Amino acid sequence: MATQQAQEDLSPTATRDLTMQRNWRHCSKCFGLWFNGHSTNGVCPAGGAHSGQGGSWDLILPADPTSLA
Ligand SMILES: [Zn+2]
Repeated sequence: MATQQAQEDLSPTATRDLTMQRNWRHCSKCFGLWFNGHSTNGVCPAGGAHSGQGGSWDLILPADPTSLA
């Protein structure tokens, strides 16, 4: 079918496997995202370390392991 073929051509990455990475948090100080899976919370541009205080959701982001060299 011509229509279906066109859709596949427009989305070549749609069938690629994605790995999901959880444990991302929203920082209540700089409003950025930071990864909560390391031993420290990283460096926050607002000062000190990123903060998950205030109750951030456990954000799960798509990760593409094939993009890592
Ligand atoms: Zn921060």
